[in-house]
Amino acid sequence: MGRPPSKNNSLTEKATLVASLAQSGTPGSEMEKMAALLNRKMLKEEAAEEEERTIALAAREAGAKSMQNKRDMELYQQDNCSHTKPLGGPAIGGQRDHKNDYHFMCLFCSKMWLNGELPSHLKISLDRVGGPTA
Ligand SMILES: [Zn+2]
Repeated sequence: MGRPPSKNNSLTEKATLVASLAQSGTPGSEMEKMAALLNRKMLKEEAAEEEERTIALAAREAGAKSMQNKRDMELYQQDNCSHTKPLGGPAIGGQRDHKNDYHFMCLFCSKMWLNGELPSHLKISLDRVGGPTA
């Protein structure tokens, strides 16, 4: 059998060899090298996927921690806020909703109160609280 000069020749040869080895189950040589190569490639891909999962998980945890920190900071600020203006008087804004409930909010720390929850020293004139006309 002649060998036509082709650049695909060695590739074809290898493929033929692998195929015959696969059929005969002969151990060693090209087949095992290729299997080992494939194995390494798969292990590498698995490791990369595992790393991706680890990073994603860490990012999620960091995000949750960051949100909790932000909430903690908010609560700390609200606990330590006088809710009054620097020169005195409540720093409170309010809004009346369609159910005639009053919502009050500190303009500095964003703490909120509903109706009578607002401490008396922070009460503002309800004339200044807007909302839908009944
Ligand atoms: Zn406040």
